[in-house]
Amino acid sequence: MSMALEAAKEAEQRGEVPVGAVLVKDGEVIARGFNHNIGLNDPSAHAEMLCLREAGRALGNYRLLDTTLYVTLEPCAMCAGVMVHSRISRLVFGARDEKTGAAGTVVNLVQHPAFNHQIEVTAGVLADECSGMLSSFFRRRRKEQKALKQATRTEQPES
Ligand SMILES: [Zn+2]
Repeated sequence: MSMALEAAKEAEQRGEVPVGAVLVKDGEVIARGFNHNIGLNDPSAHAEMLCLREAGRALGNYRLLDTTLYVTLEPCAMCAGVMVHSRISRLVFGARDEKTGAAGTVVNLVQHPAFNHQIEVTAGVLADECSGMLSSFFRRRRKEQKALKQATRTEQPES
């Protein structure tokens, strides 16, 4: 999970929402990814998505059997869907996502009994660090937006 946090930091340095993911097989890191929506102009460029794509290329297989995905934030419905398709064995995540979490918080797609694959889930690993990174990012961004708004207001000519 600390490696996933490192990946999240990379996202943050690029002005992206700090979420990071790492895929491990037999104790070895196969792939990593960080949230990259803005830089790639890609609404699907979530950390998990990029990590699983890279893992598929690295393993030469679209099935990612016997692997564990570590991600700093609970996956969304899109990423949970890809996890089921890729057949990862285990998901370990940090912070819960109260708005879009699809691994138990809003819905649980990774263990849906009607699906043909269920994933073992461990939640809340380094949760404070993971959610702290996100909340300080959003706090900073709100502050920047407020400052920007004030700056544009003072630039306007007086009537
Ligand atoms: Zn996602």
